[in-house]
Amino acid sequence: MKKISVLLATNSDKAYQYLVPAEFNIKKGMIVKAPFRSRELFGIIWDDSDEKIEKSKLKEIIDYYPQFIFSNDRIKFIKFMSNYNYSNLGKILKLFIPQSYLLEKKKPYLKYRFDEKNYEKIRKTSSRDRIKKVFINDKCFSLKEIVDETKVSRSVIRDLINKKCLAPTSFRGALDINLKNISKVDLNDHQKKSRDKINKSISDNKYNCFLIDGVTGSGKTEVYFEAVEKSLSKKKQSLILLPEISLTADLFKRIESRFGIKPVMWHSNLSKGKRKDIWQDIFTGDSKLIIGARSSLFLPFNNLGLIVVDEEHDITYKQQEGVIYNARDMAISLGFHEMATVVLVSATPSLETIYNINKGKYSKLSLPKRIGKAKLPLINFIDMRDEDYKNQEWISEALKGEIKKSLLNNEQALIFLNRRGYAPLTLCRKCGSRLECPKCDSYLVEHKYNLKLICHQCGFSIKSTKDCNSCNSKNSLIAYGPGVERVTEEIKSYFPNSRVESLSSDNSTKSNKILSDMKNGLVDILVGTQIISKGHHFPSLTCVGVIDADLGMANGDLRAAERTYQLLHQVAGRAGREDREGRAFLQTYFPNHPVIQSLIKGTRDEFIETELNIRKKNKLPPYGKLASIILSDKDEEKIISFCTVLKRNVPSVKDVSVLGPAPASITKVRGRLRYRFLVKANKNINIQKFLYLWTNNLKKPSSIRMSIDIDPYYFL
Ligand code: ADP
Ligand code: ZN
Ligand code: ZN
Repeated sequence: MKKISVLLATNSDKAYQYLVPAEFNIKKGMIVKAPFRSRELFGIIWDDSDEKIEKSKLKEIIDYYPQFIFSNDRIKFIKFMSNYNYSNLGKILKLFIPQSYLLEKKKPYLKYRFDEKNYEKIRKTSSRDRIKKVFINDKCFSLKEIVDETKVSRSVIRDLINKKCLAPTSFRGALDINLKNISKVDLNDHQKKSRDKINKSISDNKYNCFLIDGVTGSGKTEVYFEAVEKSLSKKKQSLILLPEISLTADLFKRIESRFGIKPVMWHSNLSKGKRKDIWQDIFTGDSKLIIGARSSLFLPFNNLGLIVVDEEHDITYKQQEGVIYNARDMAISLGFHEMATVVLVSATPSLETIYNINKGKYSKLSLPKRIGKAKLPLINFIDMRDEDYKNQEWISEALKGEIKKSLLNNEQALIFLNRRGYAPLTLCRKCGSRLECPKCDSYLVEHKYNLKLICHQCGFSIKSTKDCNSCNSKNSLIAYGPGVERVTEEIKSYFPNSRVESLSSDNSTKSNKILSDMKNGLVDILVGTQIISKGHHFPSLTCVGVIDADLGMANGDLRAAERTYQLLHQVAGRAGREDREGRAFLQTYFPNHPVIQSLIKGTRDEFIETELNIRKKNKLPPYGKLASIILSDKDEEKIISFCTVLKRNVPSVKDVSVLGPAPASITKVRGRLRYRFLVKANKNINIQKFLYLWTNNLKKPSSIRMSIDIDPYYFL
């Protein structure tokens, strides 16, 4: 028996010692199964540990998986993730080995390949030819897949198998792309220049980080398709990261028609069997093109050549639960560790990315114009201070007129309000009380589509009611303020003969149908939340209306202006994507606000510069560093007393200041009270080290949950 150390995929920072039979051919990074307390856990063989534990006290590992070995680069990346995000190594490893069934043996595949030579010898029929047709690009199919694709009867297929025209194979096929068969557009000069720079980096097997900076519809996607093609031609893997998996349907279809294959999609709705197949095919390198959201960063890539981060500025890249990390930043680090080229894509890049370009860390590739005749939409504001105030109406006369104009031209309109539900507040006319969640500091939001009042913090809900619980009045509760459902109702009342649909995450199961109807011109007016703001291409959409352009600014955190700019720019960018000119209208009470002004004037770069200067002056990211510590407990006294201990022990370090403790703005969530500290440091400070110095030796009561968020995006 020999001693090895194993990092287990569990909440621990240390590797444990185990024994393996001497004849086992083990290797650093190999996945093993080991006993731990009363459980069996997965882990990987780790660095040597200097713990002097007697062999007789050690347990033997249970199983090992020589086909699954994490490379040194992957191990370095795991260490980086742990360090940077201030999280346990074991917790990070668990992201990479999330479920045990991923390691189970695969069933052998019964697939068939097409044998041209034998097919030459037999009589042709139309159904036989139909079968032949699907076997392009050396694809392989199972019997069932052939039936599905061709609708030819099983007996005809069996006959071809007997005649050896279809031969069983263990090669999975269909994973690789035959680059001869792809169809593509002729790139314009800007696109070509961008492509050449990216592809040179891929050819050189180098890490480089690029930003494709181009307005919506300028051909960014076509440029990164060329990079995918390059990476595939080198037999390397490509990962396309998207902020939300709901955006993939369009891209999926485009990839299928561009490359002639279905890309692999990694998302939470896959069956166990499918997940296992995908995971293992990526480990062996058989799968070459993968699309996914955040968690696809932790797939076991074999030789990654390219990572695309589409809509790099999108804040949904920030993971808030479990291990807190920013997937865009981790993607860049993954590229660095694996010597892969990273391509960030955006029409409204984040300030962090612009900062890194200015520093020379990333290269910017610009696509300044929309493709073809399409022009950028004209953006205008509607000054709501001038509008006659009408109770419980949210759409201005001016916007109504613009919608009508588009409809008369057989064009479409899109109305945007980033607020789910019918009304954000329900209050009593008699006693003034507001309906609140019993477990959180937040109001219950009325949702008419399912007749419920819902807490957006914790999901708590009650049946809709009109009767007040506080003063026992009947029929006294009224809806206050607009939500997307209410605006839809208002639009329907103005345009009774038009087809109006609404879309938010509440009815997202219908989203594919609604979006495709909108695309095909069957919907006249679409009302929705941020779910409709990105990525979509609606050819006949010419009028975009934003109900409350000031909404995002109220929130007051450091990225409020940046985020509002990005969101409104995205929404406006849905208009006029083909040859008809688009118009966007922002309803606002602050028409002189810099965000509104730069949207109207199209002075994005000046806006970014002004914002960067504000951040610089205040030493805020990207010019300084931030970290949040969030503590929560059911017992307020306990948490206050631990906060006092923390406060007393703040290490005094130059260029670091600690703000707090303060109750979080949403103090109560799911019955737990939340308190926060904010650490503010100069750029040159190792903020992780500071946190370690501060918190490592303090004894935290076990009921208190403490989470650390490096570079926080949410301050509530
Ligand atoms: P973006 O990603 O910047 O929004 P896309 O790459 O989706 O832009 O391009 C917008 C539309 O223009 C797509 O339908 C795309 O196929 C088409 N397109 C892009 N580049 C070209 C080109 N060079 N010639 C013709 N059509 C193009
Ligand atoms: Zn009341
Ligand atoms: Zn709640």
